[in-house]
Amino acid sequence: MDVPSVLIIDDDPSLLQALPQTLYLRMRDIEVATCDAAQTALVLIQERDYDAIVSDIKMPGMDGLELLERVRELRPDTPVLLITGHGDYDLAIRALRGGAYDYIQKPIDRDSFIAALQRAIQTRRLRRRVTEQHVALALHAKSLEQLVERRTSELVQANAIKDKFLKVVSHELQVPLTNLIGMTQLLRQQLEHPENTGTVKQGLYEMEHSLQRTAVLVQDLLDTSLMETNMFVLNRERCNLVELCRNMLREYTAGAGPTLASETLGDPVEVEADSDRITEVLMNLLSNARKFSPKGSPITVTVRRSGYDAIIDVRDEGIGIPDEALPHIFEQFYRVPGTHIQDGVRAGLGLGLYVAHKIVERHGGHIEVQSVPGEGSVFSVVLPLCIDQAAENTSGSERVPSEQSAWTIVH
Ligand code: ADP
Repeated sequence: MDVPSVLIIDDDPSLLQALPQTLYLRMRDIEVATCDAAQTALVLIQERDYDAIVSDIKMPGMDGLELLERVRELRPDTPVLLITGHGDYDLAIRALRGGAYDYIQKPIDRDSFIAALQRAIQTRRLRRRVTEQHVALALHAKSLEQLVERRTSELVQANAIKDKFLKVVSHELQVPLTNLIGMTQLLRQQLEHPENTGTVKQGLYEMEHSLQRTAVLVQDLLDTSLMETNMFVLNRERCNLVELCRNMLREYTAGAGPTLASETLGDPVEVEADSDRITEVLMNLLSNARKFSPKGSPITVTVRRSGYDAIIDVRDEGIGIPDEALPHIFEQFYRVPGTHIQDGVRAGLGLGLYVAHKIVERHGGHIEVQSVPGEGSVFSVVLPLCIDQAAENTSGSERVPSEQSAWTIVH
């Protein structure tokens, strides 16, 4: 701890000499400064923050009471002890009323002088510590306040996103459900007339379509929530992407909707993947390709190896995506503004590509996109090849170029 410092002011030279001596004798560590006039004392007090000030009350020029008043303004926390004449109770009371810490009567009793001074020094130190703690508390309170402000604004933002999310989701789910209800009522009526089998068939097809759409929405929502909560699990196994695409596209074109116009099977392309999840990604890209290209236009899917990568391209001849929208299409809820969608198909939630790119990233790959407005888009899913195929591909690529597989569907 610092050595306490005391300033003694007295116009009586003998006292000004005796008091410091007493202090040095009785208190082990103490620093004592002296001066014989209040004016000079004020200069010293301005320069230094003493632990205590001892001053005679009666002095020529500025007296002790006035000095006390000035010290209270300059250093309100510094205790001031005033020395009064014997029996000068009036002055002592005025001193205390003026804010003096204590008064010492002449002739000075050394023990009580030392005791009073020690109390004063102790008080000053405690006050200083309290001030420091106040400052530290104020700083802490300020940083807490900032933290609360930041968290509140994060919560407000999160809440706004959630509100938007709920609004979009309920709207998106309501539309296919209303369709389905209308369609079932219509079909029930049609069934009463056996000659209407064709209408019933078409109705069932549309119902299936609405149900599929709803299933995709629900799947996207589920995947998003699993990803947000870090609970998304992949079941990866070695799989051949050519087979995966062939099975998926055959199933995709089995119904009354899009048809398979051509199929070329090339070399196997093997990856470590969760085939259900990769199928989900490709279904999403296919469904976008259909949504954003005119009826009757071809959609091509190709699978090939390139270096260490397996690449699946989904190419459409649709409306394309403007350059300024490209950096955003993998964001949650993003839909290119003003996009015109093929008749009878509604816009999605803007979650499909977000989920797709997350799934591919979790496989150690990525999705690339090239698009020309008015001409069409190519979405390329790039996945790491299985190690042995990658090695074979890089070392033997010059001699045996891997043959790509390709499918064309028309919708
Ligand atoms: P959505 O469910 O709206 O299709 P996605 O996340 O799958 O959401 O796609 C985001 C947006 O990117 C779409 O709303 C659309 O504006 C644009 N988009 C995606 N795929 C294509 C595509 N093949 N052609 C043109 N625009 C596309």
